[in-house]
Amino acid sequence: MPEVVKPCSLFRHDEDWDKRSSTTDGNDMPQMRVAVAGAGIAGLALAAALRRAGIDCHVYEQAEHLTEVGAGVQVAPNATRLLHQLGLRDRLRGVAVVPQAIEMRRWDDGRRLQRTPLGSLCRSRFGAPYYTMRRADLLTSLLSVVPPDRVHLGARLAAVTQSADEARLHLSDGPTVTADLVVGADGIHSIAREQIVADRPRPSGQTLYRGLVPVERVRFLLTEIRVQSWLGPDQHLVCYPVSSGRQVSFEATMSASDRREESWSARGDVAPLAAAYAGWHPDVTRVIDAAETITRSALHDRESIERLSSGRVAVIGDAAHPMAPIQAQGANQAIEDAVVLAACLADARPGDLSAALRRYEGIRLPRTTRIQQQSRANAETFHLVNGQARHRRDTSAQTASGLDRHEWLFGYDAEQATTTSGSA
Ligand SMILES: Cc1cc2nc3c(=O)[nH]c(=O)nc-3n(C[C@H](O)[C@H](O)[C@H](O)COP(=O)(O)OP(=O)(O)OC[C@H]3O[C@@H](n4cnc5c(N)ncnc54)[C@H](O)[C@@H]3O)c2cc1C
Repeated sequence: MPEVVKPCSLFRHDEDWDKRSSTTDGNDMPQMRVAVAGAGIAGLALAAALRRAGIDCHVYEQAEHLTEVGAGVQVAPNATRLLHQLGLRDRLRGVAVVPQAIEMRRWDDGRRLQRTPLGSLCRSRFGAPYYTMRRADLLTSLLSVVPPDRVHLGARLAAVTQSADEARLHLSDGPTVTADLVVGADGIHSIAREQIVADRPRPSGQTLYRGLVPVERVRFLLTEIRVQSWLGPDQHLVCYPVSSGRQVSFEATMSASDRREESWSARGDVAPLAAAYAGWHPDVTRVIDAAETITRSALHDRESIERLSSGRVAVIGDAAHPMAPIQAQGANQAIEDAVVLAACLADARPGDLSAALRRYEGIRLPRTTRIQQQSRANAETFHLVNGQARHRRDTSAQTASGLDRHEWLFGYDAEQATTTSGSA
């Protein structure tokens, strides 16, 4: 039985919101109304950041419950520092795990290819911790800083339209919500993105399995608290502790070009996964065997885009730049997007939404495009079969250990980036 993250009310239209287009704040300034599609990490982070900036927003989520979705997530200092600024420092400390290192290992003999130290070294270098946690814990934490009446469940976006004066979010079997800005935080199959570019997600040819295992069943993994990535021909498995160390989250890829479905919650069978990993190192097969229930989804990809907005519609998170789950940065980048977009909107001159959105794109696109493209390139390297190329990968992985090469990624301060880019 999946755990419900938080009982939120089903969708109820806020009629005052529609009337607000003509209302003003105490300074006779029109109040900006932002409607967000999707209550994933991107949508909730944006709601939290907008609230902090004093901008009202409503979030519309298709799911009727926010359930235990997607097992674990790694949150690096570039995002934890932002989550702390959103007021979540204590809350995250209570649920997260601080891994001491990320290690990459060979699939068969378990030989260590690379070790990146984390723990206190990472925290002191970047001023914020590296965490692993359940996705549900991250979502609940974000929800705790968003007013419950601003998150509407069972509200599925069917289409977005816009005019020069307003954007409209059309909900299936529901009313149309009018806003000054619609933000698509609706994931890789984003409907809002259609306002910006006419592309489609394409299947990557990989199926992904994810699971949570009680720690008692896999104690052998915890001789050190760490993230372990096992690399093998055409597939890889990553595992790490979550839930204050009570559970281990794992994700394992498998070639399966026939699977088109993508979902965080479709049930998967352990048997085909176990068969695909037969012959791998015993630490890997024991993790898979220890799984009771797992979820399965088909991985998709999209090309990088040159704009993150069009008119009164913008996109953030996977709706903007889905990433192969190799660098563990998709959610981190979604949080960066949210903080930057909120800051750009807060600084916007009244009526000049377009300058704010240009500024958001100018800050975000170079970084997210670089990470998106690097993730795709690394996906190929991760899955090399035996041979010269794999030998070169293994040798260069060993020489590239350490935190230096993560400076540009973990050391980046998105809030600072909005200050140095100047305001609208
Ligand atoms: C196996 C795997 C492991 C990963 N590990 C990491 C990691 O360790 N660290 C990391 O930073 N990133 C990781 N990522 C990437 C990360 O999960 C995503 O980048 C992140 O979840 C994106 O968040 P999002 O809110 O943009 O999209 P999503 O998480 O997809 O959320 C979109 C939300 O919008 C809702 N929605 C969709 N369509 C509609 C609609 N029409 N109307 C209303 N609501 C809608 C959905 O129900 C959902 O709640 C991983 C990804 C995978 C696949």
